[in-house]
Amino acid sequence: MHQMTLAEIARGLADKKFSSEELTKVLLARITQLDPQLNSFISLTEDLAIEQAKAADARRANGESGALLGAPIAHKDLFCTLGIRTSCGSKMLDNFKAPYDATVVAKLAAAGAVTLGKTNMDEFAMGSANESSWYGAVKNPWNLDHVPGGSSGGSAAAVAARLLPAATATDTGGSIRQPAAFTNLIGLKPTYGRVSRWGMIAYASSLDQGGPLARTAEDCAILLQGMAGFDPNDSTSIDEPVPDYSAGLGESLQGLRIGVPKEYFSAGLDPRIAELIQNSIQQLQKLGAVIKEISLPNMQHAIPAYYVIAPAEASSNLSRFDGVRFGHRCENPENLIDLYKRSRGEGFGAEVERRIMVGAYALSAGYYDAYYLKAQKIRRLVKNDFMAAFNEVDIILGPTTPNPAWKLGAKNSDPVAAYLEDVYTITANLAGLPGLSMPAGFVDGLPVGVQLLAPYFQEGRLLNVAHQYQLNTDWHTRTPTGF
Ligand code: GLN
Repeated sequence: MHQMTLAEIARGLADKKFSSEELTKVLLARITQLDPQLNSFISLTEDLAIEQAKAADARRANGESGALLGAPIAHKDLFCTLGIRTSCGSKMLDNFKAPYDATVVAKLAAAGAVTLGKTNMDEFAMGSANESSWYGAVKNPWNLDHVPGGSSGGSAAAVAARLLPAATATDTGGSIRQPAAFTNLIGLKPTYGRVSRWGMIAYASSLDQGGPLARTAEDCAILLQGMAGFDPNDSTSIDEPVPDYSAGLGESLQGLRIGVPKEYFSAGLDPRIAELIQNSIQQLQKLGAVIKEISLPNMQHAIPAYYVIAPAEASSNLSRFDGVRFGHRCENPENLIDLYKRSRGEGFGAEVERRIMVGAYALSAGYYDAYYLKAQKIRRLVKNDFMAAFNEVDIILGPTTPNPAWKLGAKNSDPVAAYLEDVYTITANLAGLPGLSMPAGFVDGLPVGVQLLAPYFQEGRLLNVAHQYQLNTDWHTRTPTGF
């Protein structure tokens, strides 16, 4: 039962082969049995799940239908969930029970999805390895000595290990696509503004975007359908009609123009990954796509620009965690300053503190022009590169990451080494473009992802290309040993 995709679950429920309650119980038992190896969940919401599953079964019995009605999922633990701990992977919010549901959570619940729990993540979504979580590192089900990627590593590890069919995630600089690549999943970061950020605890507000993680493009289409849409509560949400993503999955790739940036194949890319990317290009050519070399000349400046802008926004967003209104508070403060200092010092981990310091520095008078403003100018150049490229091609293709998942602890002493691994993913966030990572093969038994980028609001195009590719490849059907 645990091998089923969302699409298969929807058919099974419609055909009355099993109930949502039965399926939910099977998956909850599987999580209890196997998750101690992975640490992919921070909280399990068994009672809520059973209650939602029963309600979904009752709705189906009353003649309702829908791809998500009775479908078990989990939420990354930065989506606010009413009355349920929403920790952001931080000691700071270990005691925080959200007083309301995030729009994404409310929309999926209304569609009938069943919440099994909240998944582990890098603290405040800062990281690429899921090692900065206060609740401990998450392990990669493909090799328990390796990281699953981050910051949505819990969602990715859980879905890859077949603990559940799909999960929500968020992507500020690659946190949906990179863990998807490291665990053999499809992960889609939508266009900035496509999915509401209301109730999604902010890391870097101008870059953050929620999206789905699943094993197939079909399932990502189903989950995105439930997440996307205008939200008056989010001032950056965009009022664009949401297409029927599942209905758009049948299009031929004949004549699809794929741009391959020459800058992507530099010395930093593992040659074994380069080879797998070439194979995926050939596969898409067989399906009718036309390949064109393009250039993204400002890509080399993207990492330094991102690692100024994201910490700058984070330093501002995280100022609300002061020990006064909610979250961790130190014991017996001597005065107000002592309360702030010790509450924040005790509540935040090292990576979060590093980002707050970098961000506050970049925003301070005297450095603002030299760092923050300059980074914003680079951001515009990165966007302009993409706009020029999309005059010539329909999608852009390349690796998702320069290397496969590294060993746990391998980059702990060198944060910059981890930052450099984001080279292929952060440009989409700087430009606000949609991007997807899909399975492209294995290196030393570890999964490798190929990334597709598209013009604004062309999530449907990405999903269709990924679906056609998956109809002709079987990487995504491989299951990690032991799961
Ligand atoms: N690795 C990047 C960072 O640490 C991206 C994280 C994310 O997308 N949330 O900032």
